[in-house]
Amino acid sequence: AKGMGGNHAQFYTEALNERTVERLNLEKALRLALVNGELSLQFQPQVEMASSRIVGAEALLRWQHPELGMVPPDRFIPIAEETGMIGEIGQWVLRQACACARQWRDAGYVGIRVSVNLSGYQFRDVDLVEQIAEILHETGLPSALLDLEITESVVIDDLPAALRTMWRLKLMGITLSLDDFGTGYSSLSYLRQLPIDTLKIDRSFIGHVASDTRVAAITTAILTMARDLGLATVAEGVELATQIEFLQQRHCDLVQGYYFSRPIAHALFMQRLATEGQI
Ligand code: C2E
Ligand code: CA
Ligand code: CA
Ligand code: CA
Repeated sequence: AKGMGGNHAQFYTEALNERTVERLNLEKALRLALVNGELSLQFQPQVEMASSRIVGAEALLRWQHPELGMVPPDRFIPIAEETGMIGEIGQWVLRQACACARQWRDAGYVGIRVSVNLSGYQFRDVDLVEQIAEILHETGLPSALLDLEITESVVIDDLPAALRTMWRLKLMGITLSLDDFGTGYSSLSYLRQLPIDTLKIDRSFIGHVASDTRVAAITTAILTMARDLGLATVAEGVELATQIEFLQQRHCDLVQGYYFSRPIAHALFMQRLATEGQI
């Protein structure tokens, strides 16, 4: 038994080392990703339920590495955050997303908005507001066409500081969305204090609205509360017609998910805009 324990410990250490090495390699590769042009954005359409039209898109970051292949954002964004690389990457995402949205506008699709995910690291950067102002100026995108997505945990981390940043962004004409709403350990009481425009109901709810009565009850309550607070609602991860039906009955404003479209390359998104409504 003693020998077994030793082996086990050794195996455990090796597994740990492997993970550390893998992580360090990923970190090294990520440092080169930006300069090597391995990062790109995809866009996932957001469809207005009332009109069945595309009214915006969420920009989602992609990393295509020559050897590792497609590295999912859930794997590399935490590393980018911990190392601070997200500062530079996040700025690149913002600039790229705004430049694309400007193209939609120039092509005649007026009023199509782009939603950009902000990490906690970016949100706490004292230069964020100035950087965004500069990017809007450079790209010529009207601020009203930029929406920023932040999560609850980022906001409640330091509420006073978050409120200051949010108000500064709001005053510039940018809209704010609370992402992954319903996950995490947040309390509802701070919701009324936040200058947000939109609640994005997390995929974990939407996935079960048509099959689980408890999830259905919670989602209905969130939609009612959002309306009473004057907030727009977006349902994330909509995959099924039964989910669409549920959301339509409860007047959810926008839907986003594989049912309409997966995240797609910019050129393809432009094509979808051309056939808007018929996706
Ligand atoms: P998120 O912000 O919650 O983004 C939505 C995720 O759900 C995306 O995953 C999207 O591809 C996926 N999704 C959309 N519709 C469906 C559906 O119908 N079914 C299912 N199963 N999934 C759906 P993705 O692109 O892998 O991104 C994962 C997360 O990585 C994002 O979650 C976001 O937190 C983060 N992320 C992505 N791009 C950026 C970025 O530019 N900056 C930052 N800070 N985070 C990003
Ligand atoms: Ca998001
Ligand atoms: Ca989300
Ligand atoms: Ca998420």
